[in-house]
Amino acid sequence: MTRVFIGLGSNLDQPTQQLKKAITEFDHIPLTSVVQISPFYQTKPVGYLDQPDFVNAVIEVNTYLEPKELLAHMQLIEKQHGRIRTFQNAPRTLDLDLLAFEQLVYHDSELTLPHPRIQDRAFVLVPFNNIAPEFVIPTIGKVSELALQCQQDDMHIMEEPLV
Ligand code: ADP
Ligand code: MG
Repeated sequence: MTRVFIGLGSNLDQPTQQLKKAITEFDHIPLTSVVQISPFYQTKPVGYLDQPDFVNAVIEVNTYLEPKELLAHMQLIEKQHGRIRTFQNAPRTLDLDLLAFEQLVYHDSELTLPHPRIQDRAFVLVPFNNIAPEFVIPTIGKVSELALQCQQDDMHIMEEPLV
């Protein structure tokens, strides 16, 4: 069994509902279960600024799948949520990023582990720190230390409790 962390994001078509639905769908992936869910954060867009705020969260999943099997299921879930790929940093109904697959370090054209853009993203590090501060992201560092260093002004926990 492998300990895996996934980043979720949405800024179209009821983002909170998109994330909640995606989390239940994760539980339906074979040989996979959701074990922790961070609070949901409202965050400002990064890169392309002229678009709605995002809702972001991080979940911990336990799986017996191989990394690319899990990625394929994640891409199917994105598709079911009507994700259309337009340009980088574009608005999206659902983005699922494989942040870390235990201590695996891997790179090819389809998959990079750990996810290459964790380091400078508060919208990933802050919720990650809520559920796994002690986790060491291979080649990057300990989540609690990375979270301390990142700029957190543009985000806040959403009031609505997660059910
Ligand atoms: P972004 O999340 O950076 O906005 P996309 O969600 O459009 O970009 O993902 C683009 C590609 O990134 C996908 O086709 C996928 O194959 C690739 N990819 C590489 N590494 C990862 C990873 N760790 N998690 C998710 N996708 C990844
Ligand atoms: Mg993505």
